[in-house]
Amino acid sequence: MLLPSPVLPLLLPSGFQISVKRDDLIDPYVSGNKWRKLKYHLEDARRQNKTHLVTFGGAWSNHLLATAAAAARFGFKATGYVRGELAANELLFLCSLFGMTLIPAERSAYRDKPALFRHYHANEETAYFIDEGGAGSQGLMGCAEMVDELNDHYDHIFVAAGTGTTAAGLLSGIIQAGLNTTLHVVPVLKGGSFLAAGIGAHTASIEQMILHADYHFGGYAKTSPQLLQFIASLSQSSGMLTDPVYTGKMFYAINDLAEKGLLDRGSRVLAVHTGGLTGLLGKRNAFSF
Ligand SMILES: *Cc1c(COP(=O)(O)O)cnc(C)c1O
Repeated sequence: MLLPSPVLPLLLPSGFQISVKRDDLIDPYVSGNKWRKLKYHLEDARRQNKTHLVTFGGAWSNHLLATAAAAARFGFKATGYVRGELAANELLFLCSLFGMTLIPAERSAYRDKPALFRHYHANEETAYFIDEGGAGSQGLMGCAEMVDELNDHYDHIFVAAGTGTTAAGLLSGIIQAGLNTTLHVVPVLKGGSFLAAGIGAHTASIEQMILHADYHFGGYAKTSPQLLQFIASLSQSSGMLTDPVYTGKMFYAINDLAEKGLLDRGSRVLAVHTGGLTGLLGKRNAFSF
């Protein structure tokens, strides 16, 4: 694991200069915020002598892959319940390669994960439940820690949000450290304004947070030619990859806000690269060159 992850400069297509917290470089597969969310789950499992991680995700879940790779590295057995059918895709292939047992779960059964866990693992003393995406207080704590790794002060920190756990952790970290930094959250789902309540439930205040709910490009995992073009051009100009599901939308948002003059030229902006680049392979046919 490459920790603390490095902070590297990035020139956006708009000519705006930012810094990037490269959590994508922590590990290629135990990547980004998924490692931060897993860390305390693994410590907790170890403390309780649980040797079998049981978790959940969709067929392109970065969390499943991170859990599979972390389990292999740290000597755990792992089982992943996959929502719907077992697709023959690159991500699940890597999970199997790391030794994870994959079990398809019908969408109706998948909805109640604790019930699924109880049903199959109630009598298994070594089994340890990790919620989809690594959510929960352990996940939050791991994400808050990222703030302590920063050596410089930033006026603005940007992060992409699915469930908002990472954003809530970062906001807690910012508040605990007494920083006046504003956290900018870019939901990748449609109607992402609902995240404010969830994030607020985990933090002392959401005064230092701004939600940018208009960069979802139609919804979760939806893209547009404009977004894909932006991702390709950023890859070519910087050597840094982003994906169309999460970080591509966040970097697009920062670039767009800068272009519209909504970010001061002199301000110090940090973008969190939350990793998860394997999902890019699932979108390769959407790109045209
Ligand atoms: C899962 C994921 C997110 C979203 O994290 P949440 O804590 O659910 O908001 C963001 N970026 C990447 C790359 C992810 O894999």
